[in-house]
Amino acid sequence: MTPAPSTIRIRNLHKVYRVGSERVHALRGVDLDIAKNEFVAIMGSSGSGKSTLMNILGCLDQPSDGVYELNGRTTHVMNSGQLAQVRNEEIGFVFQSFELLPRATALKNVMLPLIYSRRHWFSASRRAKEALVKVGLADRMSHRPNQLSGGQRQRVAVARALVNQPSLLLADEPTGNLDSKTSEEIIALFKALHAEGQTIVVVTHEEDIAGHAARIVRLRDGTILSDNPTSTDPVHQDYLRRSLDAAQYAAAATGAPA
Ligand code: ADP
Ligand code: MG
Repeated sequence: MTPAPSTIRIRNLHKVYRVGSERVHALRGVDLDIAKNEFVAIMGSSGSGKSTLMNILGCLDQPSDGVYELNGRTTHVMNSGQLAQVRNEEIGFVFQSFELLPRATALKNVMLPLIYSRRHWFSASRRAKEALVKVGLADRMSHRPNQLSGGQRQRVAVARALVNQPSLLLADEPTGNLDSKTSEEIIALFKALHAEGQTIVVVTHEEDIAGHAARIVRLRDGTILSDNPTSTDPVHQDYLRRSLDAAQYAAAATGAPA
């Protein structure tokens, strides 16, 4: 499975939600470029606009103003049918809460996007099995979600996101419901996919998860606060220093070697 080229171009993006008579200005002029095969983490406190941005990136929602081009396609002018088609062809989405069908097996859950899109009707089962093998679930295809661990459920969701061979894999807090060891396993899976050429954008509020990405974009109040390679991001580098200090302090306190 070789993903197609992907390029995101966003200019002066705005999103205003209307709730009754109230207006919430969730994105306030975001500019962002993401090249093919990048692995980007989006960070920011709750309410800073991360999910709003991800939903627009994933063609689940439209901006109120501004430009969003995905692989040269101007999505911000599309109607909902055209948007759904782009979503189907270009996007794989992973959610914090997995969003699996409880009564369907892992295999059936992964087959669903293919069945809906009618693109690979006859090869749906084979493609879904390949995607499940890829995420390490060859021996869990007949299990239903409640027969799987949280990490395995999220792997099913990743397989489902990959089954259409999307050019862009988006994940909104994919480790938010997982313990730290399982989170590491899921992010390791993302790293492996990235090494194979998959373009990935992941939202997280955990610095150690973001540290696996090559670039960190930080949002605040609907604007981009900073956008740096992980290796030079000041906040992340400070986090790493503090973690190291804490580890050394703990080692000294217990007499164990650091
Ligand atoms: P984050 O994912 O960073 O926590 P969101 O993008 O979910 O932030 O939210 C950004 C802002 O937009 C918040 O103030 C939130 O309350 C508001 N918001 C998000 N979704 C909606 C919606 N569907 N309707 C109205 N307001 C919304
Ligand atoms: Mg969110």
